Amino acid sequence: MADTQQIEDEQQQQIEHIRLAVRQLCAKYGEEYWLEMDRTLGYPSDFVKELTDAGFLGVLIPEQYGGSGLGVLEAAAVMEEVCRSGAHAGVCHAQMYVMGSVLRHGNEAQKTAYLPKIARGELRLQSFGVTEPTTGTNTTSLKTTARKRGDSYVINGQKVWISRIQHSDLMVLLARTQDQDKVSKKTDGLSAFIVDVKAAEGNGLEIRPIDAMINHHSCELFFDDLEIPAANLLGEEGKGFKVILDGMNAERILIAAECVGDGRYFVDKASAYANERNVFDRPIGQNQGVQFPIARSYTQVEAASLMVEKAARLFDAGQPCGAEANMAKLLASEASWQAGDVCMQTHGGFAFAKEYHIERKFRETRLYQIAPISTNLILSYVAEHVLGLPRSY
Ligand SMILES: Cc1cc2nc3c(=O)[nH]c(=O)nc-3n(C[C@H](O)[C@H](O)[C@H](O)COP(=O)(O)OP(=O)(O)OC[C@H]3O[C@@H](n4cnc5c(N)ncnc54)[C@H](O)[C@@H]3O)c2cc1C
Repeated sequence: MADTQQIEDEQQQQIEHIRLAVRQLCAKYGEEYWLEMDRTLGYPSDFVKELTDAGFLGVLIPEQYGGSGLGVLEAAAVMEEVCRSGAHAGVCHAQMYVMGSVLRHGNEAQKTAYLPKIARGELRLQSFGVTEPTTGTNTTSLKTTARKRGDSYVINGQKVWISRIQHSDLMVLLARTQDQDKVSKKTDGLSAFIVDVKAAEGNGLEIRPIDAMINHHSCELFFDDLEIPAANLLGEEGKGFKVILDGMNAERILIAAECVGDGRYFVDKASAYANERNVFDRPIGQNQGVQFPIARSYTQVEAASLMVEKAARLFDAGQPCGAEANMAKLLASEASWQAGDVCMQTHGGFAFAKEYHIERKFRETRLYQIAPISTNLILSYVAEHVLGLPRSY
């Protein structure tokens, strides 16, 4: 028992150490930096490089492949602190969880070829190609095809909202290797591939940026007879849905941690402003109508944080955590949005001034109720898989 306590204490200390180091790194990239990125649709290459060089984006890569070999609990602390600093973690978070598909389903040749380079920052695996314009959330109906031809697969089709592809060397792509009407299970017939983006662009892959509400570097992809080596198949042919699904719990926990970071950012900003802004000769925070919503947001963010921690600990212990990962994502994305709304209201008209940074973070945190999975789909999961209610779709 004492040993277990000691291990937990040491882990907690290490997490505090990580938090402090990430905070110090992020402090070099202040909110003006992020405002400028947002205004110019820029990509923060220097920030991402520094985060990678410091080893923070490789925390989940095992030590044998050059990473830190830590767990999702530590990775969540990194992402939370990035968001709490006022940064937009959407520029870099995918490296953490897309890598998991290669780690869990790649063969040894793929792992040794890619993981050490990803850990060293020589290769960026930041892109994940799943969503399609005509099938959306109904992933198992996706239409992009990958047909085997000799030692190659030939890809045809279209993807949408594929983020960071212009700032990534590799993409994990999900495509159909067997027609939907030929498979007995609807999750069969899809395969995952590692695509060398630089080699593909202009040779069967066209990339078109989407003009979007936030600076997330999302693009439409058009595949026209793109040929990739058959050796780039990730996992078993026809079982690619599992490759993608296996990474989803980690992704949900990390996104939830980002929302906790956003939520704490908004609560900090709202509290500070409510204390310093004087109207009617007193701080606005003296009014219960101003302070109660901030206190409620704080409470909601703290509660969500506990669910993130529970999910991360289960994940790291190798135990089932689908319910907790989904619930963490739902609670945290709603709490951060609520905190953002309260922060806007607390700042009155100044919330709309870009120099206050709140409207940018408000736009950014809204994404997480829609992507990578929408709230309704999480509720469906809980209803069906936790509560035993009939499947609704
Ligand atoms: C900025 C941004 C970045 C993204 N990055 C990526 C990326 O890198 N890679 C990638 O593959 N995808 C990415 N996506 C796509 C994202 O995962 C999808 O937008 C999301 O999964 C929802 O799919 P959809 O937009 O097609 O919505 P739809 O599937 O069309 O759904 C629309 C609405 O209907 C609801 N709905 C649909 N079916 C049901 C149902 N059965 N029951 C109840 N409600 C339902 C949904 O909850 C949603 O609110 C990104 C999206 C955005 C906006």
